[in-house]
This record gives sequence, C-alpha cells and structure tokens, in this order.
Amino acid sequence: MLGLMQDWPLLCHRIIDHAATQHADRPVISRSVEGPMHRTTYAEIRQRALRVGQRLERDGIRLGDRVATLAWNTWRHMECWYGILGIGAIYHTVNPRLFPDQIAWIVNDAEDRILLTDLTFVPLLESLADKLPTIARYVVLTDAAHMPKTTLKNAVAYEDWIASVDGDFAFKEFDENTAAGMCYTSGTTGHPKGVVYSHRSNVLHSMIASMADAMGVSSRDVVMPVVPMFHANCWGMALTGPMNGATMVMPGQRMDGASIYELLNDYRVTCTAAVPTVWLMLLQHLESTGSRLPYLDRVVIGGSACPRAMAQRFQDDYGVNVIHAWGMTEMSPLGSLCSLKPEYAELDGEAKLNVQAKQGHPPFGVEMKITDDSGRKLPWDGRTFGRLKVRGPAVARAYFKGEGGNILDEEGFFDTGDVATIDRYGYMQITDRSKDVIKSGGEWISSIDLENLAIGHPKVAEAAVIGVRHPKWDERPLLVVVLKKDETLGKDEILGFMAGKIAKWWMPDDVVFVDEIPHTATGKIQKTTLRDRFKDYVLPTAEAAE
Ligand code: ADP
Repeated sequence: MLGLMQDWPLLCHRIIDHAATQHADRPVISRSVEGPMHRTTYAEIRQRALRVGQRLERDGIRLGDRVATLAWNTWRHMECWYGILGIGAIYHTVNPRLFPDQIAWIVNDAEDRILLTDLTFVPLLESLADKLPTIARYVVLTDAAHMPKTTLKNAVAYEDWIASVDGDFAFKEFDENTAAGMCYTSGTTGHPKGVVYSHRSNVLHSMIASMADAMGVSSRDVVMPVVPMFHANCWGMALTGPMNGATMVMPGQRMDGASIYELLNDYRVTCTAAVPTVWLMLLQHLESTGSRLPYLDRVVIGGSACPRAMAQRFQDDYGVNVIHAWGMTEMSPLGSLCSLKPEYAELDGEAKLNVQAKQGHPPFGVEMKITDDSGRKLPWDGRTFGRLKVRGPAVARAYFKGEGGNILDEEGFFDTGDVATIDRYGYMQITDRSKDVIKSGGEWISSIDLENLAIGHPKVAEAAVIGVRHPKWDERPLLVVVLKKDETLGKDEILGFMAGKIAKWWMPDDVVFVDEIPHTATGKIQKTTLRDRFKDYVLPTAEAAE
C-alpha cells in the first residue's frame, strides 16, 4: 500500500518561492563587484530570477542544458542560480582559482552553453574564449554603465539582458531527480571530475544543513557564506539561507581580514562559514586592530582541518562558538559537524578543544563507516583509523559521464579518500587524506595532527607536514613552516614545543622555513606541489641511516 500524501517534488526553486512568500522583505546584502554595498530582498531576487529563467529560454536554454557561472558571492549570482534552476537547466559553478587550461577543460567537459561572469574574469575569458566552442553567449554580471568593451561572443550586460524580458513567467515543474547543479572536484591527480547534484539532493541537503545540530539556521540569523558559491556548492548556504528566511550577507570578491570584519560588524552577522585560511586572516586583523566580534554567534570551519589554536582563539578571546565541519564536493558537501552531544556538552577547556578538533558527527542523511583496505569494518573506538566511507541522499553515486567508473562499494558506500577514526559517540576525526598520510616503517603518521600541533606555536602562521623518502623508514615527516611577520624561530624551538605532545616516533625529522605554502583552488595546502619541491630533500636522519 502506498501512502496517500501529495506529490510535491523537492525542487530547488520552491526554496526561493517560499522565501519570497514568507520572508519577502528579508534583506540580502552584498558587496558588489563594482565596489559599493548593495541591498535587495528575497521578493526581488525571485522576481529577477524569473526574468533570468525567461531570458535563458529565449536564448534557447532548455531542461538539462548547462549554464556556467564564474562569479563571486553576490545577489546577482544567487538570482542566476534560481533562474537556471527554475527552468530545469543546470548551474555549473566554475572555480576561477583553477588554472586557465583547467577552466577550459571543465567548461568543455560540461558542454556549457552560456557563461555568466563577473567583471573580474572578463580578461581571463577573453584569453580563453577560443578554447570554449560550446559557449554561445557571455553575460557580464553588471549594468550598462560598468560594461567593458569586450571581444566575448554575444556579450551583454546582465541588467540589460534581464531587462529585455517582462518577467511574466512561471518556474517549471519536473521530476525532483532532475539535475540541478554541477561542480567539479579539483582533481589533484588526473582531470577534474564532475559532480551532478539533483533538485532532490539539494533540497534535502539544505534541510540537513539547517538542523540545530548542523548549522542551526533560522529567520533570526544573519548568514554570511564567505565560502564561495563555486566551492562545493557554497556548503549549501545559498539554498539553506533562503529556505529558512535568514538575512544574507554576500561578501563579493574581497575576502581579506579587514573586509570580512567590516561585513561581520556592520551587518551584525550571526553565522558564517569558510575555510581556515580565511579565518587566519580575520584573526590576524582582529589581533592587529584590537577589534571585537560582538554579534557573531558561530563560525563554521571546514574544507581543511580547523587548527586547535584557531578554535581556542575564536571561543576564548572572542566568545564565538566554533563548529568544525567536514565534507566534500561529492557530498553536497556537508558530511559531519562538530556540535556537542550531551555526552560532551559539559566539557570545557582542553577537553572541549580535544572534541572540537574532531570533524564531528554526521547528521541524519549521512551514514558513515571506516574500513580497512579489504573493506572490513573497523571499530568505533576513537583510535583505530581506516578508510572513511559514506552513504546518503546527497552523496554522489557516480561522476558526470561515468568518469571513474563505479565509485560505490557493495553496500553502496562512497570512499571519501580520507582516513579517519570514529569514537564511541559517533564523532569522526580525519587523520589524513589517504594520499597524504605518512607511511613510516609500516605505520601511519597523521600529517594533520602534526600540522595542528605546529600551528599552535605563537610564532607560526602556517604549517604543512609531508612525507619525505627515508632509506630506513620509507618515509619520515618533514615540517614546513611559514612564520608570522617579523618573527624568527629556530628548528629546535619548534620541535621542542611539539615534543611530549605526540608519540616520539611521530616527531618530524626536520624543519624548513619558507615564505609561503602553496594552496589549491579551494584553499587547501597543496601537498603535491610541496612533495615535488622537497622530493630530493635529504633528511638529517637519512644521512645518519646510510
Ligand atoms: P577539492 O578536493 O576539490 O578541494 P573538496 O572541497 O570537496 O574538494 O575537498 C574535500 C576534502 O577536503 C575532504 O575529502 C577532506 O580531505 C578535506 N576536508 C574537508 N573538510 C575537512 C576538515 N574539517 N578537516 C580535514 N580535512 C577536511
């Protein structure tokens, strides 16, 4: 017997319909790419999204067609998402931090038809346009007054483009499993792979993200996604915010400490999210200016491990709750968040920070297991680490065009490529990416643990640990450190600081000080580049062993 409830497909544009009905005048405030602050409402965003849909149809875009966006977080980018979604086309967010050739590769792979771009990327696209044969039109997200002279094919200013239709239009209804959005994984090895979200998975993911033990978003919140819409679906926030009627603050292009602080303070942001490098810049700004964060309630930190010292400073110095989160493009992207269950809620000080160093527990809608290489399940004792595998309605079951073949195990779980422990209360902790873990004498050393420890030194700005070849142990850890401005530090000092806090055999064999550590397009430490750079590095312990 089937249930007798209504068939109401979970379509993403229903989110903006709801926001425009229930929270019509709620502000969406953006730092425009042109410079000034801009203010609009959910009602207006929906009106203009209808025009985007109507105009896309006039340009020949139909159900299943891909429309690329190369854009920062602004109200216009949001309108574009909903307009594209509303006609069953697919938004494909392109990460401008990729190498130009990679951008061309993914636009071609996705066979994008129209490309919506911010002013910032017009020169880049002009230099790439010859390599983008599928793009029939470029829409520049600006008005006529700011529209540059450009060689881009059929280029038009966004405001003119949507003004050419009357907005008398209705969003379409179709199967909730229809593709909604695409985002490519950065592909540290081989070509990037396309992840294809559906309307259903996006809507469910937004509901999952809203839950109290996840981001806990409400209409009383002022939400600022600093994480860009081109990074793993913006952690769902461009959908979660409107779903809950939260005020939104969209930071545009400027993500330095001072600019982010200005928005947090001027618009009384209560909930924000980004990768640790952004928060490093903010904390440095706060420290150097003596500023406070009186309005911010919680900060979601993910994409890379949240250093313990960062959690401590946010909480102890600024009274802001830290929610450590883990996820990946393939998971829409949220996989776990570190809110405190009753078992841990009474903890404080070091004990609380120990828990918050974990990436947290999965909300309803994400199942997890850890296994050994042969797929055998490992115990949840908080110590045993293995391959982390996940399953759920917002987790990928295949890549675009079948790239990579079958990506699920016999139980339907996806291998995340991360290595993790899970404790008895279900808290997961990433010890490494499987390709970054340091294999020393048959045992594994977690590079993340060592990095977290090193970054706790007051003079250290950033730290990375990589495995370097060793004649006796196979690999041994090398610590690469960037010091804070105008600081000096000896190798012995940093090693002395770490000693006693980890197993002796985990201690790095050497330390190098560098001016900069390379980052990927999504703000992670680029371990491959570091490994290349130090591939012939001779550790002092290696010389001794030979
Ligand atoms: P990309 O590989 O394109 O940068 P993602 O942003 O999807 O894409 O990266 C997902 C990966 O980022 C995870 O598999 C994990 O290795 C890492 N990651 C994400 N959040 C955390 C976290 N809180 N701690 C440690 N690693 C994290």
